[in-house]
Amino acid sequence: MVEKKFQTSVLTSGSKGNSILIRTEKTNILLDAGLSGKKIIFALQSVGIDEHKIDAIVISHEHNDHISAAGILCRKLNIPLYITTLTYSVCRHKLKNIPAGVCHFSNGKTFKIGDIEIRAFQSSHDVVDGSNFTFKKENCEKKLAVATDVGFPSNLMVTQMKNATTVIMESNHDVKMLLNGQYPPQLKQRIKGKQGHLSNEQAVEIIAKIIHPKMRNLVLAHLSEENNCPQKAEKLMQNYLRSINHNLELIVATQHKATKLLQI
Ligand SMILES: [Zn+2]
Ligand SMILES: [Zn+2]
Repeated sequence: MVEKKFQTSVLTSGSKGNSILIRTEKTNILLDAGLSGKKIIFALQSVGIDEHKIDAIVISHEHNDHISAAGILCRKLNIPLYITTLTYSVCRHKLKNIPAGVCHFSNGKTFKIGDIEIRAFQSSHDVVDGSNFTFKKENCEKKLAVATDVGFPSNLMVTQMKNATTVIMESNHDVKMLLNGQYPPQLKQRIKGKQGHLSNEQAVEIIAKIIHPKMRNLVLAHLSEENNCPQKAEKLMQNYLRSINHNLELIVATQHKATKLLQI
């Protein structure tokens, strides 16, 4: 039987900008648009998607690396923006006018765009109302979980991510590199803190809690270019996966090249 399309690509990921494509035959969504509009369009084209097919942009939180091109792209493509009321209140001046409309969703609730069901849940991050998400397609068992910009792995997050067949998981820093690095002490504290970002070790801890036989793709995301190196993050996760004999497609997302389209 030919598998119906339910796909994702991490178009760009890291502190310079974040954007993820989620798509079915009928619906194409961007989760965050935190790079220049041109670069996001280029990344979409690199995975074979015409930017005019995008139906909506969903925003996780107000940091620039997640919203910088959101307003521009919504205007250029004449598509709506999905954002929580609180997040919108603190960044509407940056997003400017969205002629196709602003739709509000709430953490803890499910909403729908086309045939994609989206569940938003609170993230612990230093913002007014940060969200992480799971995505399901109508009448389909498969599930995508996306958790980046997370301070600490809450029980809520672990519960929401259970049964995901594809996971996009923050693996922001190597703790030693962060502590020995050039960042000022306050910034190191922020990153390490309960409202900052997850380390490579924490990423493994979370995956250990949610892994199940049907998990088939794992993308490590939002890696720090200063305080991490892709090989370290990958090796730590790979060692864990080998230790439990779990075979899956492990990919490290980067700032400069979109991942291939993964079948969720
Ligand atoms: Zn952030
Ligand atoms: Zn971020």
